[in-house]
Amino acid sequence: VEHHLQVIKENLHLNVFLEVFDEEARAQAKAIDNKLKHNQAGKLAGLIFGIKDLICYQNHSVTGSSKILEGFDSQITATAVQRILDEDAIVIGRQNCDEFGMGSSNENSAFGAVKNAIDETRVPGGSSGGSAVAVQANMCQISLGTDTGGSVRQPAAFTGTVGLKPTYSRISRWGLLAYASSFDTIGIISKSVDDNARVLEIIAGKDQNDGTSSSEPVDVYAKELPGDKKYKIAYLRESIESDAVAEPIKKSMASTIDKLKNQGHIVEQASFDLLDYVLPTYYILTTAEASTNLSRYDGVHFGHRSKSSDNLESLYKNSRTEGFGEEVKRRIMLGTFVLSANYYDAYFTKAQKARKLIKEATEKILEEYDFIIIPTTPTTAFKLGQHHDNPVESYLADLFTVQASVTGVPAISVPIGIDENNLPIGMQIMSRAFDETKLFAFSKCLL
Ligand code: GLN
Repeated sequence: VEHHLQVIKENLHLNVFLEVFDEEARAQAKAIDNKLKHNQAGKLAGLIFGIKDLICYQNHSVTGSSKILEGFDSQITATAVQRILDEDAIVIGRQNCDEFGMGSSNENSAFGAVKNAIDETRVPGGSSGGSAVAVQANMCQISLGTDTGGSVRQPAAFTGTVGLKPTYSRISRWGLLAYASSFDTIGIISKSVDDNARVLEIIAGKDQNDGTSSSEPVDVYAKELPGDKKYKIAYLRESIESDAVAEPIKKSMASTIDKLKNQGHIVEQASFDLLDYVLPTYYILTTAEASTNLSRYDGVHFGHRSKSSDNLESLYKNSRTEGFGEEVKRRIMLGTFVLSANYYDAYFTKAQKARKLIKEATEKILEEYDFIIIPTTPTTAFKLGQHHDNPVESYLADLFTVQASVTGVPAISVPIGIDENNLPIGMQIMSRAFDETKLFAFSKCLL
């Protein structure tokens, strides 16, 4: 704990933690030392976690990195956090992110951008940017982030860490501030695949507090699968040929494919001609869900309440105007528009139909192959401010991560190389729903 507190202190300029629970972490450590002496310590004894500022921890602040929740204390502890605490993990602090998880660069935080530790002029990715840099720079060992459309995988790729978005419903969403409920998952950022698997084993599984959580049995994810197992893998032609993908990423993908073939796996090209539709489908459906979910922040129930209002209508209006950032407002507007009576069928209904087609096409490939591999991101970490004036450009950073979110299958990002500026390159692996054990085992072939 002292070591990690020291690293956090030395890296305050990266703006990773919004709050550090130093005294509490020290007290937890002492209590765990005691348990260890009596052989009573849990499975995660002493492992140091950070949690994204979208995950509730009772009697601690949670703001979604938004001004609208400034000063709000959580009344509950997220199931995932409770489960790691029950196994004697230590929670060292609350991590900066894009406001309510909306963003791909961590620049949409009301509390300032996070910087990438490899190159401080670059973004760490988002929305779990703080969580990724915390692991990258050794401020904690594991971060619990959230992934709605790539928010764990994309920052993992930009920081050279391992990021898992599990199957939708694998981890309870109880205590996670909702962005788009039919996409939201809690995800895990770690340095190694084994650490990631061990943590999933603890936090996955049915939870009475989340009706959508799956009762599918939780596997021993970190078990060694037979090392000589050969898999059948598909890479998507559209992702390799796309002009949007930077050359060094194409090269790294090609050499990874060669490496896998040399290991004796079957690697074949598959086609996914719906790729162009995935991003619009994602942004229509998630903004629609967000506009509904965020209506609870009305200045009455939670957090910020405007002082300059003389009736209920203006109280709502002013509280939201003052409390929400620009990107969140943009998405609420967009979501309200696609749900409005005149446009509902043209956008929302159509996007739902497209979601079904994308799901079917992805599952079809996964019937034939064990895994789909695809770059995690079209480029490596970009410069701070680069996409600031153009939200559509920044949405393109999610081009490859949203497919797994739209379909609900698990996906992991693992580092596979670096570009000419020493910036990490991540590759994403998708598998069938609830196939996390195989996903972890295969990830290890790459490291
Ligand atoms: N960047 C994507 C978005 O802004 C993904 C966010 C997320 O996964 N929370 O919606």
